[in-house]
Amino acid sequence: MITINQVQNNHTTNNEGRYRHLFVIIESLNNELIPSSLEMLGEARRLMDDFNQKYNLNEKVIAIHLGDGIKDLSQDLISYGADAVIYVDDPNLKYPINKIYTKIISQIATDPNSIREISPEYVSAFKKPRYMFFLADSIGRHLSSTVLAELDSGLASDINKLVISDLDIKHQHKTKGETITYKKTLEMYRPDFSGFLWTTILCLDNKNPEIEKEFHPQACSIIPGAFQPIIKDTKRTGIISQYRPQFNEQDLKIKVLKQELVKNPVQFENYKIIVSFGRGIKANPEDNIKLIEKLAKLLNAEIGISLPVSKKIFHLSEKYESIYITPNRVIGTSGRKVTPVIYIAVGISGAIQHLDGMKESDFVVAINPDENSPIKDVCDVFIKGRMEDVIPVIIEELGKLSGRIKEKEIQVNTYGKL
Ligand SMILES: Cc1cc2nc3c(=O)[nH]c(=O)nc-3n(C[C@H](O)[C@H](O)[C@H](O)COP(=O)(O)OP(=O)(O)OC[C@H]3O[C@@H](n4cnc5c(N)ncnc54)[C@H](O)[C@@H]3O)c2cc1C
Repeated sequence: MITINQVQNNHTTNNEGRYRHLFVIIESLNNELIPSSLEMLGEARRLMDDFNQKYNLNEKVIAIHLGDGIKDLSQDLISYGADAVIYVDDPNLKYPINKIYTKIISQIATDPNSIREISPEYVSAFKKPRYMFFLADSIGRHLSSTVLAELDSGLASDINKLVISDLDIKHQHKTKGETITYKKTLEMYRPDFSGFLWTTILCLDNKNPEIEKEFHPQACSIIPGAFQPIIKDTKRTGIISQYRPQFNEQDLKIKVLKQELVKNPVQFENYKIIVSFGRGIKANPEDNIKLIEKLAKLLNAEIGISLPVSKKIFHLSEKYESIYITPNRVIGTSGRKVTPVIYIAVGISGAIQHLDGMKESDFVVAINPDENSPIKDVCDVFIKGRMEDVIPVIIEELGKLSGRIKEKEIQVNTYGKL
């Protein structure tokens, strides 16, 4: 059991200087950056800005990018928050083959020359990156595990919250029962137990003299959609550095013939309105989902759900279950973050974990019979009532409105012709 307290004392670690910078492993396909790579860069930027300010350091966000014909994407990576890009452009790297990618990324991560142009002041001491981020997709999950095995350090997978802090740790084995301050520790949070519990993972050096060992980089894979990219700034400047790795014929035995990006079928970002439903549909789940579906169709909205609904707590026909009761529709800390113009919360109480996913919506409407539901405090319009009563009225009014809009369009067209 590890006890964690915010730091109060001044013990320091003795590995300062060897571990520098945050390396972000970028993915691209057909010469386009995968959007989630930019989300990782955004979070890396925010974390390192705070880090450098807090510790009065000048450590960098370094994007590591492998591929074929990818050099020209380097400036985009700088525009999205990287201080520097280390790229390897080679026809053999057109597709991410785990064996060769692991070899090259591990080389970059352990070669002081890789950072020579970027931060000459750290070259002589450099041993490995301080932190490392991968994407928690099918490529990044595999790659992160093999790279971290190669680098002989730990890995936290499927992370959706990150904090850097100094922690007082007391642990029977790691610290031999003493309280020791671990500086600049990356707290990596992951949703566990079906998303209902957050686990914090720490990658800590063994400071017990009997089993002393350093564990760096502190690394994780990050859930796509967990963070927002920063706004692209084409005026940002940074260092773009080509790395020449060493590999041989043996490493190139596996050939990939084709790769396709499987897009999330639920593209919230393409919709201005999102209608989400929660446990409040319980009185008549399938009929209520049909009502919500009708409303969403009229509003040209996408449909979201709360986390408990995704656990298949209602008896529904196969059709409705397969379309709507899926993890990729969950809004919140354990799901997606959305920023629509209008967010309509139907039968959702407004737990903090749900609000975390939709609080940046421009305008929030809640439909709920319980005035004491926390959602009332964060919405712009609270419609007190049961969804079974309220939604049919809205649908009727929208129907009249669209009729009127159509009439107006016809009149305008007619006058236009005249
Ligand atoms: C670590 C962790 C992570 C979590 N992550 C998430 C997450 O990402 N997303 C998420 O959503 N939750 C998450 N949760 C769960 C969260 O804490 C809440 O339990 C959950 O959001 C509640 O879902 P709900 O609003 O659908 O249900 P409830 O809290 O049960 O609310 C149902 C609401 O429906 C209303 N209602 C009842 N009848 C009607 C009716 N006829 N018409 C309209 N309204 C009605 C009720 O008044 C009530 O306000 C997480 C929890 C933990 C611990």
